[in-house]
Amino acid sequence: SAKQEERNTYRFYTPRMRADANRRLLLLTDLRRALEENQFQLLYQPSIAFENNELLGAEALLRWHHPERGYIMPSEFVPMAETLGLIRHIDEWVLDRVCRQVSQWNSEGVKIPRVAVNISAGWFSHPDFVQQLTSTIERNGIEAHQIMLEITESTILQLGDATRQTMSSLHELGVAIAIDDFGTGYSSLAYLKLPAVAYLKVDRSFVDGLPESAEDASIVQAMVAMARSLGLAVIAEGVETEAQHEFLRGVGCEEGQGYLYSRPIEAKNLGELLRQEAKPGVARLSLVPPS
Ligand code: C2E
Ligand code: MG
Ligand code: MG
Ligand code: MG
Repeated sequence: SAKQEERNTYRFYTPRMRADANRRLLLLTDLRRALEENQFQLLYQPSIAFENNELLGAEALLRWHHPERGYIMPSEFVPMAETLGLIRHIDEWVLDRVCRQVSQWNSEGVKIPRVAVNISAGWFSHPDFVQQLTSTIERNGIEAHQIMLEITESTILQLGDATRQTMSSLHELGVAIAIDDFGTGYSSLAYLKLPAVAYLKVDRSFVDGLPESAEDASIVQAMVAMARSLGLAVIAEGVETEAQHEFLRGVGCEEGQGYLYSRPIEAKNLGELLRQEAKPGVARLSLVPPS
């Protein structure tokens, strides 16, 4: 009824929501300037092999250091950047930054096996994407397999008919794809057969409940079994406890990322970890505290 509608409309404008809307509006304006004014920073979160705690790579994670409001997390500004059509420029900036950093480490003799870069659907499905990626990798003189791309299931849906072509171009280039937040989307599993798709990242929401939740335990076990039979590697996200670590290792998951091993850290700190690992004769660095 009209009366109900009126009430709903009225109830919509709580002071809290007005404050949120104001913040969003102010941030939207500032976001346009953030790239020019160099307010973005990249952190790197290491991932480790369950087998021997070897550092297998890292994921690049973006932070916006707002001059007045402090650090703003990607969950808040990435959707805004998508709305504004800025995400392509941000993702390109991230990729160039990562390639330059990898190139610098290569020249210092601390070769990182792999850095994962998150790519938004809008840019990944753009016709210029693969060419841009190729030229950024070549310009920086790094090996293509040192870059991995993280996309979500909904990105594959958005790509539609172009999926096969994009994926085979990436495979030819030597850039592997990880399916991020695996299990949270709603799509067919057919894309898991595409040659460029080499990793599944089990979403943190399934890892959280381990090992107590019988449902989460079954889901994770099934994901790992399916991935292994398809020849895909599994990376568990958001590993925070020893018990989660033990469970995941027990069901045959190969790799983990989470606060248990390391929070996202600055490039210079990751460089330090890489240097320690590269020292001949020195025992492998154990990011996992001995249990
Ligand atoms: P994601 O790719 O799934 O990244 C994992 C998120 O989980 C990161 O949050 C990371 O800091 C957090 N995390 C890692 N380990 C743990 C843990 O043990 N416990 C908990 N509670 N959290 C953990 P972050 O950095 O806030 O990133 C959030 C999302 O923003 C990312 O999810 C990704 O989708 C997006 N994002 C981040 N950087 C970029 C970027 O450069 N470009 C694009 N397009 N998206 C990005
Ligand atoms: Mg990711
Ligand atoms: Mg994820
Ligand atoms: Mg494959």
